[in-house]
Amino acid sequence: MLARLASPSDQRTVNWSGSYSSCDQRFELLKHGPLDLGVKISTSNPVLAEQFRLAMEFWSGVIDMRWHEETGNACAIQLVEGTHEILKKSIVARAQFTDWDNFQGWIAFDPAAKLSRVEMYLTAVHEIGHLLGLKHNPNAKSVMYYLDLEGPEYLDSSDLTSLAQRHKLRPSVHAQISVARTLALVTN
Ligand SMILES: [Zn+2]
Repeated sequence: MLARLASPSDQRTVNWSGSYSSCDQRFELLKHGPLDLGVKISTSNPVLAEQFRLAMEFWSGVIDMRWHEETGNACAIQLVEGTHEILKKSIVARAQFTDWDNFQGWIAFDPAAKLSRVEMYLTAVHEIGHLLGLKHNPNAKSVMYYLDLEGPEYLDSSDLTSLAQRHKLRPSVHAQISVARTLALVTN
């Protein structure tokens, strides 16, 4: 299945907006590290919430970051339910960009999108990657490729180089990381 993700290739520099509460700690995402991120999960889909938590766990193994769940506005990231205005036709999820105007720390997901657990997980890893400063990668094996393709996905060396310019990588991180390494957890 192909799940189209929002493309940032157009020239806008103002983020999408919506009637969600802003995350007061969102600029924590601009720090090099260590990061301490509050994550507010505002979705009616418990499976999506669980895959989003697993995606945060993945990223906490890549960069010097810890996270906790936050119910108030002291969040850096908020998972919100996307509207049709935010999620255009066939787009399942969309992140804001930290360096564009109106950055509020939001990632919008279509809570009714017909995605498997693995697709939700990989899409969450992709969108959180945007909040950590990553752009799309032309390598179709990268989790930052603009389409969510079936098959193994990685953070490749160019993703990791970009990431290291923004954040402190964990010492165990080498040339390439499989994003699928936690899929045993995801599919059980
Ligand atoms: Zn994207």
